[in-house]
Amino acid sequence: MDAKHLGDELSAVLHTEAELRGRLAELAREIEADYGDEPPLLVGVLKGAVMVMADLARELNFHAQMDWMAVSSYGAGTKSSGVVKILKDLDADIAGRDVLIVEDIIDSGLTLAWLKENLELRGAKSVKICTMLRKPDALKVEVDVAYVGFDIPVEFVVGYGLDYAENYRNLRDVAILAPHVYS
Ligand code: 5GP
Ligand code: MG
Ligand code: MG
Repeated sequence: MDAKHLGDELSAVLHTEAELRGRLAELAREIEADYGDEPPLLVGVLKGAVMVMADLARELNFHAQMDWMAVSSYGAGTKSSGVVKILKDLDADIAGRDVLIVEDIIDSGLTLAWLKENLELRGAKSVKICTMLRKPDALKVEVDVAYVGFDIPVEFVVGYGLDYAENYRNLRDVAILAPHVYS
């Protein structure tokens, strides 16, 4: 869906589809160079990372295996609870493997910090993080993020996989949701 179909529900488009794809291509070149002949297992976090994963995986010029986890952190609201629950676990055994977590957004960092540690405890050889978006001024915990698409302001954004109450995921761009929609 294009932003023009959403009228006053969006207050601003932050990054267009073309910008997102262009930045992912740059990140893909970095990832290829860093991993060389040993491609990592891409682990996407459902459902938000579906678009990033689809575009990043196709941009990578090596065999990119994908696996998925679903964790809960926000529910239908707009604030992180810090409580993380596994709703769907990985299919793959990651012991001894290089893992690259693919995420849509890092806000407080609580979800990613928890997830990274969880995967390390399973004996992964390495666990790195690639996120399309990050809100540096909202971070509550230190998270080492190897690949960042764009740093954005502390606003609630939707699109490119990101939802509000399960809507807006299919918006092509990343946009700030107008406050009147959720208040
Ligand atoms: P964190 O634990 O870093 O605070 O947030 C992790 C998850 O919260 C993200 O993966 C995402 O699902 C959701 N989230 C955080 N910020 C936003 C936002 O601005 N918009 C949307 N739609 N979801 C967000
Ligand atoms: Mg996410
Ligand atoms: Mg959500």
